[in-house]
Amino acid sequence: MRCSQSRQPLAAEFSQRDEGLWALERVTVTPEGGVGDGATGFPQITGQFTSAPQYRGCVVCGAMNYVKCGCQRLGCWSGAQPFTCPWCGRSGVVDGTITDLGAIDRA
Ligand SMILES: [Zn+2]
Ligand SMILES: [Zn+2]
Repeated sequence: MRCSQSRQPLAAEFSQRDEGLWALERVTVTPEGGVGDGATGFPQITGQFTSAPQYRGCVVCGAMNYVKCGCQRLGCWSGAQPFTCPWCGRSGVVDGTITDLGAIDRA
């Protein structure tokens, strides 16, 4: 995950709540030199995604949502449209809800 505001690399920690339901628990700044693609807890991006009740938002900008781009990577999202992917730079209107992370690869 990256912060969509600062493009800072973040490590996203997910936990499985139910079969196929993953909750974002925590986002932390990765150590210097980290690749920033870190997402621990799920081997494959399948199923639904949500945020754990205790999720405190992006550690950098406080955004409470996140988006999975068409490039398959995650960026924090404040809810403002359009979303600009901090990885590939594409921007588009986010389609779907947080439990159905919308691809924005139409943009
Ligand atoms: Zn952020
Ligand atoms: Zn992207």
